[in-house]
Amino acid sequence: MNLADIQKQCSPGQVLAVSKLQPAEKIRSLYQQGQRHFGENYVQEALDKMEALSDLPDIAWHLIGHLQKNKAKYVAGKFSLIHSVDSLDLAKAISQQCQKKNVDQNILIQVNLAKEETKSGFDKDQLIKDWPELVLLPQIHIFGLMTMPPLTETPDEVRPYFRELSDLLQILRAQTNQSIHPLTELSMGTSHDYQVAVAEGATIVRLGTILFGERPPKM
Ligand SMILES: *Cc1c(COP(=O)(O)O)cnc(C)c1O
Repeated sequence: MNLADIQKQCSPGQVLAVSKLQPAEKIRSLYQQGQRHFGENYVQEALDKMEALSDLPDIAWHLIGHLQKNKAKYVAGKFSLIHSVDSLDLAKAISQQCQKKNVDQNILIQVNLAKEETKSGFDKDQLIKDWPELVLLPQIHIFGLMTMPPLTETPDEVRPYFRELSDLLQILRAQTNQSIHPLTELSMGTSHDYQVAVAEGATIVRLGTILFGERPPKM
């Protein structure tokens, strides 16, 4: 589908173009059509593309893939938003790197609502337990929550997960100082289910296939 049509359907949700495994030239082409926010899954690939496209002044990079703690040093301060902070230890590692480099980093907390073993993300109860410690970590700013719901036959089956994420955000907002942690964002919905996500309050939808076509295989 073309970018303008997608943007119309997603308004007021922001379209994040998920460009993992897509060549830099495809990103440039979407940029030329007006897209500014791009999401990558793999750190090295993202850094290579940032370099290759460094002539595009206002391009914004998001990290949406699972991040290992030992790679926090490569990402701190490099992304407009890290969507995939999935443990207290990872948040601590990012905070430490930010202090070292004297940069701030905006993040989302990834939540694994269906408790799927194959997916990363905080368990909801664990997140509520860890929250007081998370909000005290220096130099990270929690902008909201992200989730990857289970794969389902029809998009409507994921609606309860999107609703649960939205409710969880409200619970956390009530106990958080929003001048440090704005808690305004809900990153939910992919090509498969973005319309349901937008209806349930998504502020960011992460769209890959529907914008770029099929992804090349991972080497
Ligand atoms: C790849 C990916 C997407 C995009 O999926 P599509 O089905 O191609 O839209 C969204 N979110 C995450 C976390 C991803 O890894």
